[in-house]
Amino acid sequence: MEMKLPPVHEMLAHLTEEQLEDLCKRFPHEKNQILIDEFGLNVSVAWLPKIVPPRVTHDLQCPHCKVSLWQKVVKIKKEESEIPYCPVCDHKIDSFCMCKYCEDERRFHPEKARLRSVGLGYRKYKREKTINQVNELPLLDQLYLSAFLRVATKDNSNLLSLLNSSLKLSPNRYCDSLIIVHLLNNSYLKQSSEYPYECPIELSDSNKERFNFSTDFFITNINPGNQDVGELMMKLYYPEINKVTELELRDIWKMITKAECLEYVIHTLQELKISYKYSKRHEELIEKILHHFPVSQFYSLYGSAIKAAVYKKEQGKIELHQVLNVSMNQLENYLERAIKERWNVTKCNRRYWSSQSVISEVFFNYFLKIGNSGFWECPHTFEIDVDIDASKDETNI
Ligand SMILES: [Zn+2]
Ligand SMILES: [Zn+2]
Repeated sequence: MEMKLPPVHEMLAHLTEEQLEDLCKRFPHEKNQILIDEFGLNVSVAWLPKIVPPRVTHDLQCPHCKVSLWQKVVKIKKEESEIPYCPVCDHKIDSFCMCKYCEDERRFHPEKARLRSVGLGYRKYKREKTINQVNELPLLDQLYLSAFLRVATKDNSNLLSLLNSSLKLSPNRYCDSLIIVHLLNNSYLKQSSEYPYECPIELSDSNKERFNFSTDFFITNINPGNQDVGELMMKLYYPEINKVTELELRDIWKMITKAECLEYVIHTLQELKISYKYSKRHEELIEKILHHFPVSQFYSLYGSAIKAAVYKKEQGKIELHQVLNVSMNQLENYLERAIKERWNVTKCNRRYWSSQSVISEVFFNYFLKIGNSGFWECPHTFEIDVDIDASKDETNI
């Protein structure tokens, strides 16, 4: 990387190179008056910050001129750091940079420009997540990040949210929360308002209901190190997996399909004007079903179970609030019989309201590369192509 050195202000011209270096190093931590006295400077306390030369960053370069970026030196206690800039073309690591490079990118590569600007939130905060190699991140992190970047939109105050997106992050709101909390807890994202520096949220059954992340606003917190922000964000958007085990893939497949089954339950109840109440038992039962059947067959199993429960309600045998519970008992009963009696369970298609979510699309198209089979085939028994398995490992070293 080429280096261009910042000019030294005439009021600091009498300092030796070592003294100047010492001054720059101590400026963030020490009181201005102490430095002024010690270095014999003829400036006021207010003026000193203006003449301390910017530091040369060694890990950031201008994508246009290939020189190291400079950054204004500020007091350490300031929560926000200064935006690094290019001394040649004035390119700034900022979503509103107007340099030629950024203007061209906005014109000719709008998606890349959008992602670059999404990736810029981290600059403002000191605690950040450094990503060196995208494909060394855990598989789940790669999946969640790719899906989030596709769905989140940026508002005019530069914050990301899911609020105005026309896309669906995951099949249901519990799963949305799971994804967002994971990204927050692993420092890929920060919440913009309530918890600007740390997210203390642990996902428990009770706050799964409480948090509605679709209305929250976020900032990305990813430090690209010496990579170009735009390039890094593109890699996160289009993850290429190379090291993964079949077990990991099946686990994620089950996680997504579990959420798709629950989406069906929630919606079916909604149509009956019954609000869904999350329960661990439902999750376990769905998991059991997915051990033998795909989501498409879950649709018809639960469809029949809810019909049976509603029939009981119409006959006056149960109350409306019991319908959910009774339908789950019925479902468990069907599952046992379906296995024992080898039922030929009908496969049903997605409904207009259960269109595929982005997390599901990314996983089945990019990671597993089986497309719609994720919905039509059983996640436990379907044979996964060995090509994407970790068997490549040894040859890759
Ligand atoms: Zn430049
Ligand atoms: Zn620029």
